[in-house]
Amino acid sequence: MPTRPFIPPQQFRAKLRRVTELTPSTKHFEWEVVDGSALKFYAGQFLSLEVPRDGSQEARPYSIASAPRDGKSFDLCLNRVESGYVSNYLCDLSANAVVDMHGPHGSFVVSPPVEQDLVFVATGTGIAPIRGMLGEIFNAPGKLSHDVWLIFGVRHPETILYRQEFENWAAQSAGFHFLPTLSRPPAGWQGKTGYVQEHLREIFAGRKDFKAYICGLKAMVDEVRFTLKEEFGLDRKQIRFEKYD
Ligand SMILES: Cc1cc2nc3c(=O)[nH]c(=O)nc-3n(C[C@H](O)[C@H](O)[C@H](O)COP(=O)(O)OP(=O)(O)OC[C@H]3O[C@@H](n4cnc5c(N)ncnc54)[C@H](O)[C@@H]3O)c2cc1C
Repeated sequence: MPTRPFIPPQQFRAKLRRVTELTPSTKHFEWEVVDGSALKFYAGQFLSLEVPRDGSQEARPYSIASAPRDGKSFDLCLNRVESGYVSNYLCDLSANAVVDMHGPHGSFVVSPPVEQDLVFVATGTGIAPIRGMLGEIFNAPGKLSHDVWLIFGVRHPETILYRQEFENWAAQSAGFHFLPTLSRPPAGWQGKTGYVQEHLREIFAGRKDFKAYICGLKAMVDEVRFTLKEEFGLDRKQIRFEKYD
């Protein structure tokens, strides 16, 4: 896939149009740029959100959880981190709140059209940029010409974020394989369980002709990268990742 031209980051303000609770600790935010500028970004990039703290600004990065759509609106998905300042500040906001932001940043992006098999691996809110990337892939004209897997690790079935959307994409496209993977499966769960590495082995045994996109907390990202490099022999360029801590 070709690399995409650099988009210069900009300072802007966005208004919270809608906030939806996905789980007791995770929220989906729909924002709109309100200071007149248009926001250009690639799916998978992140923004720096700046919130007031003791007379100054405290900034944290958050991945854009949507594909580009109208140059104005975009989504974020974040969870409350225990004792965390910015995540709790943002999760306490109501519709119409305005927040200063800077971006886009980062090179965790895909470039449609898909030219080889892809696997996306996420845990928790690491799904945010991947929801955007998959949206970009599925919004692109034409039929998917390669297989795309999403291995999404969470604890319980109720915390499979955006489950309905991923199931819809899987129903519409035979090439898209959605594999929610539970670390604490309830009795009767028919899907995947355990570590995402095991599922990589099942899907790609003996292959190195695919590309991987990994997002989540550092330990998972490092372990999956290690497996892909050392066991599968993937080249550095075939593994893209974003770490959240
Ligand atoms: C590129 C990038 C993109 C990110 N995108 C997202 C996103 O889309 N959604 C999202 O929810 N988060 C995302 N994060 C994480 C986010 O930037 C913050 O780190 C997180 O919200 C905690 O900030 P805080 O101010 O609430 O906590 P802080 O006040 O900074 O930290 C409080 C305590 O929590 C620990 N901690 C920090 N982050 C985490 C974490 N994620 N899980 C568990 N413990 C933690 C810290 O070590 C510290 O001990 C992203 C991080 C990066 C680097």
